Amino acid sequence: MNEITPMMKQYFEIKDKCLDCILFYRLGDFYEMFYDDAKTASKELELTLTGRDCGQEERAPMCGVPYHAAVSYISKLIEKGYKVAICEQTEDPALAKGIVKREIVRIITPGTLIESNILNEKINNFITSVYSDNGCYALTYADISTGLLKTTQILYGNTTEKLTDELCRISPSELLLDNNSKDDKKLLNAISQKLSVSITYIEAPENLDLSVNILKSLRYDSSLSDPIYEMSFISSAMLLSYFHETQKRTLDNLDLLEYYSIEEYMTLDSSTRRNLELTESIKDRTKKGSLLSIIDKTSTSMGGRLLRQFINQPLIDIEKINKRLDAVLELKDDYIQRMKLKDSISDIYDIERIISRASAGTISLRDMIALKNSLSKLPQIKELLIGTKSKLLSVLSLSIHEFPLLYDSINRAIVDEPPVNMKDGGYIKEGYIDEIDELIGIKKDGTLWLGKLEQEEREKTQIKNIKIKYNKVFGYFIEVTNSYSHLVPSHYIRKQTLANSERYITGELKTLEDKILGADLRLIRLEAAVYNDIKEKIKEHIIKLKQTAAAIAYIDVIISFSEVSSENKYCRPVMSVKDEIHIINGRHPVVEKLIDRGAFVSNDILLDLKEHRFNIITGPNMAGKSTFMRQTALIVLLSQIGCFVPADEAHIGLVDKIFTRVGASDDIGSGQSTFMVEMTEMANILNNATNRSLLILDEIGRGTSTFDGLSIAWAVTEYISRKENIGARTLFATHYHELTELEGRLPGVMNYRVKVLEQGDDVVFLRKIEKGGADESYGIHVAKLAGVPAKVIQRATAIANELKKADINKMKNRKKMTDSVEGQLDLINVFGRESEDRKLIDEFKKELMSVEISKTSPIEALNKLYWLQSKFLKEQ
Ligand code: ADP
Ligand code: MG
Repeated sequence: MNEITPMMKQYFEIKDKCLDCILFYRLGDFYEMFYDDAKTASKELELTLTGRDCGQEERAPMCGVPYHAAVSYISKLIEKGYKVAICEQTEDPALAKGIVKREIVRIITPGTLIESNILNEKINNFITSVYSDNGCYALTYADISTGLLKTTQILYGNTTEKLTDELCRISPSELLLDNNSKDDKKLLNAISQKLSVSITYIEAPENLDLSVNILKSLRYDSSLSDPIYEMSFISSAMLLSYFHETQKRTLDNLDLLEYYSIEEYMTLDSSTRRNLELTESIKDRTKKGSLLSIIDKTSTSMGGRLLRQFINQPLIDIEKINKRLDAVLELKDDYIQRMKLKDSISDIYDIERIISRASAGTISLRDMIALKNSLSKLPQIKELLIGTKSKLLSVLSLSIHEFPLLYDSINRAIVDEPPVNMKDGGYIKEGYIDEIDELIGIKKDGTLWLGKLEQEEREKTQIKNIKIKYNKVFGYFIEVTNSYSHLVPSHYIRKQTLANSERYITGELKTLEDKILGADLRLIRLEAAVYNDIKEKIKEHIIKLKQTAAAIAYIDVIISFSEVSSENKYCRPVMSVKDEIHIINGRHPVVEKLIDRGAFVSNDILLDLKEHRFNIITGPNMAGKSTFMRQTALIVLLSQIGCFVPADEAHIGLVDKIFTRVGASDDIGSGQSTFMVEMTEMANILNNATNRSLLILDEIGRGTSTFDGLSIAWAVTEYISRKENIGARTLFATHYHELTELEGRLPGVMNYRVKVLEQGDDVVFLRKIEKGGADESYGIHVAKLAGVPAKVIQRATAIANELKKADINKMKNRKKMTDSVEGQLDLINVFGRESEDRKLIDEFKKELMSVEISKTSPIEALNKLYWLQSKFLKEQ
């Protein structure tokens, strides 16, 4: 066996430390990958697989990417779920004795990205750690590209469901679980079903002392020192140690660790978020068609991210909601003020992410200029906010700081349009540092001198095509083609022979070179020092910059709410702790935008905890039932995030949780539309809804037989509407018209239907909700509208008429039964043909068995037979 080369030896030592990553090993201007990493990367990135001599018989498989283009390759690998370890040369190759020292400087994972060209501007990139202990959980989540950092504990109730819902809200791109969770099958199942996230298992610190070292760098809210938050500290320690391991630096842009409770916000489970299409549509899972797409008019990335957080976390505190609404009102009514503010704010760059890059040391020159330009807008914004009446706006204006010194430092030092690449220098303003100016002078003069020298040498030697050139290895040289070699003077010193020419230097050229190159080197050093100095200055202001950025984001969201409310004629909801939800002329914020202007039919709704607790909504397909119910939920949600709502008037009695469940056949989004899923979610609602919740049930019980479906829908209605069970405000759209009979029988149950206009055989949907139950489903009319061939329509009409006749008999029976409350249960049996037959047979059996044959006369027997026969005929 041959020895492996020293470089490969170093490679293996480093690779050993990051076995779960693809190692980008820096070799000159390239990052190279070897062996399995090379095979994987060449496949995933479509790179040519080559080989490198490694001292062994077989060459090491290798592929590489140029270092300056690495980011796009790395982002592709991250997107495909890989982690990438970046190994740099940590000493100057020119000074190295033997092999150049190399080290992993950072491990890039999906949850630890800070690169602006990989991240989505308006979406946070979260990483979450979860620590579990005996069915209790703590989670900590962060976005290191903005510094956001929060923690919570989930200690009681259906902890696994609550945790999963919270994870769905956060929607992290990377999840850290402690090793104990490997056995938590329930949690792992839920995660794999509901989230697409890359999971890493790590060891949780056994006790907090161990993590103290890590936690030292953490700033936290003092109230967190109470021992009841211990689990939160452990999950935070997990997260921080992961940062430590992957980022190899202190993240000084992280927020103060803040504790929140999931009970501080409205509960929205994952299917409700999806069904209400809050941030993405069910159809193609993009922002288009979502509530967010309608209300997001933010002009900064920071505002965009905050608005997304708001939508996902509606408030339940009236005071906080009203504060936002007051601010929205003020800017809605003052168009000029709003436009001025929007104008200034839209010039503000993503300060949060610029800071994170400053903290990571990768801040670019353009970031610095963007920051400078943003800072220049702050005084103006502060000024505009002077005298605002709303409390929120005045508090926010206090959080906006001004940074005249920082602005000045950047402004004096860095040119307004710096080069993308720092390497070649040339980005310091003239007049900032005398020596830099001098050196730049020397460089410029140098070019002139060289030109002059070239000219002089041509004249002296009579070599017409003498050229002075430069390369990295030899520096400056004089090039003479072979045809003139006889004219080369003796004081020329030969440096290199090429096929057609020779290269020389002279004493004079050497002196010139020293001057120029010396200036260059010194210049690059000096410029880099200025850059570092500015970087440090920015870092000194991190906390105040973060506060300012947060305030700007918040104001941006308020402006966005005001603008949407004004443009779309939204009204300010009246919030109360009463139970009434009363909306007049409510509209669906998204659907009204999708159809012709003015074509949307508005509707009223009244829900309370008394007579109007449970609305059963019937009506044909396509009538607008789902739209109506969703618009109610969205109006409640909008008002609880502090936005105005699409209605003429809205009185909103606070809602603690919104649940929506869409029947399996309607549910196209989940990709696993089985009845089981529907029922699991139904169970979740029944177990977790309170009388302050809002329930939207859309055609539940559809995924099974009519018989089962109706029974379930019926029982669910009873359970929800009764105060002793839940008593929640509920909208229930159903195709089981039988349910309309519950009005008046169950407390608070009311029937509503969508009005339709019958014109001969046609039907026109009026989209108006009115009192009463529908008794037809107009399915055939819809089929006709949809263009089903006339023959099929005729035949369907005929069949329907036959079935209706048969139904009338049933209806008679049903009427009798429903008249007594006890009859309610039996009622369900009437709908099954099978059970009807069985009943008949049972009756026959009873009659037959009651005959005592020995005592029966022939005439009595005949009478009995006649009775039985006539009974049978009647049933037929
Ligand atoms: P259903 O649930 O009763 O089958 P949908 O709520 O899905 O009906 O509505 C079907 C379509 O009708 C919607 O996609 C929308 O285009 C239109 N629609 C619904 N409600 C309204 C309304 N209030 N005004 C105008 N068009 C509406
Ligand atoms: Mg529907």
